[in-house]
Amino acid sequence: MIAQRFAVDKMLGRLATWLRLLGQDTIYGSHLGGGTLIRRARNEGRTILTRDHRALRAARELPLVFIVSNDFREQLRQVIDACRFDPFAQLFSRCTRCNTPVSAVPKADVAERVPPYVFETQQRFACCSRCGRVYWAGTHDARVREQLRALGYTEPSATVPGGD
Ligand SMILES: [Zn+2]
Repeated sequence: MIAQRFAVDKMLGRLATWLRLLGQDTIYGSHLGGGTLIRRARNEGRTILTRDHRALRAARELPLVFIVSNDFREQLRQVIDACRFDPFAQLFSRCTRCNTPVSAVPKADVAERVPPYVFETQQRFACCSRCGRVYWAGTHDARVREQLRALGYTEPSATVPGGD
């Protein structure tokens, strides 16, 4: 599946983090609003996500989703439905801090970089090559899946979560 590419207005930080959790290529930052946001979106072929009426007018021909709700869950649902992607397909494949795709790393490589309990109880780790953040499947992952199910999305694979 081709990943979506988004340029998220600075007022929508929580939505941006969620899109990264879903593995969607998402630029976001305190500097990204108004003309800067539109310029980046145009140059990089991204869909603009905004609640700013001025941006709506200024973006004109660019792909844009005007976010309606204040609630990040409704915002997320609006984006998933408008852009028609499977929220589970690329889950946890991108760094939530810096938007870089993460890659699997051998367990031995993260021994010094995660809490001892995590190292003892987890087998699979991924790491961001840009900022160095280490990821593993924890309770956080289960909560994200739960939230998606609560929004009405069903995981395509019938595997029972929490198996490992
Ligand atoms: Zn990173």
